[in-house]
Amino acid sequence: MPPLVEMRGITRTYVMGDNLVHALRGVDLTIEHGSSLAIMGTSGSGKSTLMNIMGCLDQPTKGNYLLNGRDVARLSRAQLAEVRGRMIGFVFQSFNLLSRTSALENVETPLLYQGIPAKDRHRRAMEALKKVGLEGREDHHPNQLSGGQQQRVAIARALVTDAPVIMADEPTGNLDTKTSYEVMTILQGLVKDGKTVILVTHETDIAAYAKRVITLRDGVIVSDKQQEPLDAAAAAALAKPPGAAETVQAGQP
Ligand code: ADP
Ligand code: MG
Repeated sequence: MPPLVEMRGITRTYVMGDNLVHALRGVDLTIEHGSSLAIMGTSGSGKSTLMNIMGCLDQPTKGNYLLNGRDVARLSRAQLAEVRGRMIGFVFQSFNLLSRTSALENVETPLLYQGIPAKDRHRRAMEALKKVGLEGREDHHPNQLSGGQQQRVAIARALVTDAPVIMADEPTGNLDTKTSYEVMTILQGLVKDGKTVILVTHETDIAAYAKRVITLRDGVIVSDKQQEPLDAAAAAALAKPPGAAETVQAGQP
């Protein structure tokens, strides 16, 4: 099997009026199937740009990109959308859920685009919601769910197509510590199931749950390390729920 991702000399230059922004300046990166990778770096270092290219949401200005052995650097928009739909589930910092739509319908959406019949859509969306611990919440709308629950819906939506790769851009960026660990627990579970999880984060604390960490600076990779990932479930069990400290103090004489 070819590597999941094989990038050589990837650059991405944005044109802003008369200025050129060199967001990526030559990235070489190989990612194997079934791994977990955290992409770190300060704001503006090119993390989202790299993830967008990796996820076929955008294309490089220069360079070669093979996704699962297929050259995707110069596909048409329609071809890119097809590859994306088959290969990748996305999770974003801001959840990106449809607000007037139930959790179940949100999760069903990608299957709707794939033309899956209603009955199968319903069954698969229910399974995905169960997998992220949201059984019984399928009729709730996003505004009736906590941030952590909304992110779980987003993860269920990324899972429902059974894509082999989950890409998450700052998935814990809007969540408290305990909820962040709970989200990381779900992502680590997916890696155990054989999926590849690629996440962008600027928090060292979150990157500790991935098997490999690369760091970007000014559009190039400046470090690439393998590590023994920490156990997110253990961290979630130990972390205090938000507001716990105040509750304890209020109860003291
Ligand atoms: P990060 O996710 O690490 O914060 P980005 O990949 O979003 O970084 O951005 C890298 C650089 O590219 C930054 O200088 C940013 O301002 C610029 N950039 C990102 N997206 C665009 C865009 N659509 N148009 C112009 N410049 C952009
Ligand atoms: Mg970003």
